[in-house]
Amino acid sequence: MVNYKDLGLVNTREMFAKAVDGGYAIPAFNFNNMEQLQAIIKACAETKSPVILQVSSGARKYANQTLLRYMAEGAVEYAKELGWEHPQICLHLDHGDTFELCKSCVDFGFSSVMIDGSSLPYEENIALTRKVVEYAHQFDVTVEAELGVLAGVEDDVVAEESHYTKPEEVIDFATRTGCDSLAISIGTSHGAYKFKPEQCTRDPQTGKLVPPPLAFDVLEEIEKKLPGFPIVLHGSSSVPQEYVDIINSHGGNLPDAVGIPEDQLRKAAKSAVCKINIDSDSRLAFTAAVRKVFVEKPGEFDPRKYCGPARDEMVRLYKHKIIEVLGSDGKAE
Ligand SMILES: [Zn+2]
Repeated sequence: MVNYKDLGLVNTREMFAKAVDGGYAIPAFNFNNMEQLQAIIKACAETKSPVILQVSSGARKYANQTLLRYMAEGAVEYAKELGWEHPQICLHLDHGDTFELCKSCVDFGFSSVMIDGSSLPYEENIALTRKVVEYAHQFDVTVEAELGVLAGVEDDVVAEESHYTKPEEVIDFATRTGCDSLAISIGTSHGAYKFKPEQCTRDPQTGKLVPPPLAFDVLEEIEKKLPGFPIVLHGSSSVPQEYVDIINSHGGNLPDAVGIPEDQLRKAAKSAVCKINIDSDSRLAFTAAVRKVFVEKPGEFDPRKYCGPARDEMVRLYKHKIIEVLGSDGKAE
């Protein structure tokens, strides 16, 4: 048993309270490897932004749970080395699907876990979430729950159709589960293909897909029911067209990849939405940078020569999100 406090990590409670008050959102960036983690910490240290490091169960299998824990501990020390005096770093399980997985993460030093019972019937979602909350809160680990279903693909999480969160359920759900934050469904979606072409319109000038707007009316209803309660948006990558273009012009094939426009996320960040999950954009930045090196320097075979530029590109991406979209810069001196 390792407590996250001994690793220098923090839970989400104070981060979220300040974010809701301040009208900004905390970035939740997924990581699977060293370069991603370095890029996240560098971007956050340079902008003094609190951050949630997210690990999915797929990432946990990929990177090894023991190694991940030491990487998170190392991340805190690395942040200090970069001159960030009081780093606020949370290590969070993304989409935990069983009590056992959540418990294992709590026991391994995570400071926050998500239990995703959104695919279960309502009462079963409540019972499972309640059980995780009761265990996690003994160790002051915060718990994110989910109501409503997002479409798209994220590691093991696959859903064909989305169902918006029902505002009439949120008070009952939050009260009975005791969860610390709530992921809702208002039209965001997992992956780099967030919408089918038939759900979008096409920009007549560029021929690019324009996605449907988020359901801000549903978000407003939820905020009215639970004033000041931390709300979370999953699947909030914007799928930057410049990365898609680089990938496609350097041997890749991502036709009609489409994400959530950043102005929509900017608007959400100013509301009770205090955690915005971004994963696909970092994958795209990494892949675009690597593909570019492979095409431009076919003789290159030193991984540092293509993972290095990929890391630099991710730092640029994360800083852009922090400063231009979420507004979390300068919030953790
Ligand atoms: Zn998600």
